[in-house]
Amino acid sequence: MTRQSPPGPPNARFGAGVTNAAPAGEAPSPEGVQGGLPAQPFHHLDELWIQVAGTVCNLTCTHCFVTCGPDETRHAMMSRAEVAARVAEGLALGVREVYFTGGEPFLNPELEAIVDDTLAVAPVTILTNGTLFTAHRVAWLAKRSRESRYALELRVSLDGLDAGAHDAFRGAGAWARTMRGLVALAQAGLLPIVTVTQPAHEDARTFAARAVAVLRGEGLPQPRLKLLPMFELGRERTRRAAGRDAWVLPSEPGSLASLPAEAFDAHRLQCGHARAVTSQGVFVCPLLVDEPGGRMADTLADSLRPYPLAHRACATCWVTGMTCANG
Ligand code: SF4
Ligand code: SF4
Repeated sequence: MTRQSPPGPPNARFGAGVTNAAPAGEAPSPEGVQGGLPAQPFHHLDELWIQVAGTVCNLTCTHCFVTCGPDETRHAMMSRAEVAARVAEGLALGVREVYFTGGEPFLNPELEAIVDDTLAVAPVTILTNGTLFTAHRVAWLAKRSRESRYALELRVSLDGLDAGAHDAFRGAGAWARTMRGLVALAQAGLLPIVTVTQPAHEDARTFAARAVAVLRGEGLPQPRLKLLPMFELGRERTRRAAGRDAWVLPSEPGSLASLPAEAFDAHRLQCGHARAVTSQGVFVCPLLVDEPGGRMADTLADSLRPYPLAHRACATCWVTGMTCANG
């Protein structure tokens, strides 16, 4: 069953000459860089994000950019058959790696079968809050990691470098549970990527060095680290700027309309080579799956077109150069 696309951001805000309606397959176009907000051309589909758990999560983090939680069912969990169909659709278009996200992927009762199916055809990364690693799951993950034809990666999120900071976002006891999960993974021979939210006030290198030291101290001998900025999305937007429009007027400070045309790098952003799928269709990226203008199409093929960088999150992506992918 398909759903009508919710209305995108008003075209008036895209500035002169910017379009989000180029037909699928059209050559990448620099249109929109002059006179308005840049439109990210679409190059090729490398990364497919699949929201296997929908918006269902066992936590209710205060900064969750998709506003997930135990009772959040706006995006439904995806079945094994739905995921297999999306993976096949993506592979036919050239997808090279698949990311499973949510919500919390380990709440999907079919996750093991979904991962097994997908690992037979592509590398897989599971993004998790790290609080649901039972002994059975850790053993299963280690076996799959050792024996699968394609790589299996785990990404575990942290929001601070101690229990006080992390639990302030994620709830009492979350740090301890996540650390137990990380250590169990390490003891099983796995090397999870720890994704840490980088505080705006601290230099990235200094923060990364502190993070590695903390993780070693917690019992992870070889921590792999990825820093991510905080996005003004979902609960974080409510917390930080309640009532502020998600879409930036071209005249506002922070709008990418002020970016000189010659400074626009068409290869900088992940939305030039990734798409995200939920039970509700295809979205431009994993960040905008719960934003009205983020939905692009019912099918992946129909979503492979330019996207105007009009959202506040787009400015954060541009300034930080971040990607949700592992690299
Ligand atoms: S940030 Fe992650 S762990 Fe927290 S509520 Fe959202 S999906 Fe769940
Ligand atoms: S939020 Fe980032 S990845 Fe998503 S469309 Fe905007 S620039 Fe692209």
